[in-house]
Amino acid sequence: HKCIGVLALQGAFIEHVHHLKRCITKYGSQFYNGITIKIITVRNKEELWKCDGLVIPGGESTAMSLIAQRTGFYEDLYEFTHNPQKCVWGTCAGLIFISDILMNENHLVKTLQLLHVKVKRNAFGRQAQSFTQECDFSSFIDGCNDFQATFIRAPVIEQILDDDTVKVLYRLNKPNSPQNGLIVAVKQNDNVLATSFHPELAEDDLRFHDYFIRHFMLKI
Ligand code: GLN
Repeated sequence: HKCIGVLALQGAFIEHVHHLKRCITKYGSQFYNGITIKIITVRNKEELWKCDGLVIPGGESTAMSLIAQRTGFYEDLYEFTHNPQKCVWGTCAGLIFISDILMNENHLVKTLQLLHVKVKRNAFGRQAQSFTQECDFSSFIDGCNDFQATFIRAPVIEQILDDDTVKVLYRLNKPNSPQNGLIVAVKQNDNVLATSFHPELAEDDLRFHDYFIRHFMLKI
């Protein structure tokens, strides 16, 4: 039995819950080596400590961090995410919240300093510059060469601060664009995943969530 929590302080958490639940109905526990997986929302430390893994969704990282600090939940989140037995996936604001260093910051966002990268927020500009890009993730997800990745006021990873633990999974492929080559997906060791984009918004495409369950939660 494994439990995956989705942090539900703020932001796009319900879409992650739906995608994860749909993975389990689609692929079934038999496909996941017979392991039963439970999905819950996490709003306090009691719920957090029931989990083996935590998804930190997109939304607004300043708000997420301030809510966590004001409710006294920050310390538990810090302890949980820094435990190498637990696994963590940050998407968009979630990526920002788990990172070591933010560029050009006003220090309102106290991050969890888990992921050894330097991040630039809103790297593609304003809401109106949001976009969906077909990405080839087949180097790390079998056969997944046409994933529709949605970027909404997305951050990028400007710099990897520890090459021994952090591996780039994907750089944007936009030939002839200044955005070509920007780092938008990384993993750290075998328990931390971070994406600038929103795989939970890829309708009917469960491949990214299945990858998280398989490779990070269950290590199969
Ligand atoms: N721009 C937001 C932030 O800085 C992130 C946007 C998102 O999660 N879609 O937190």
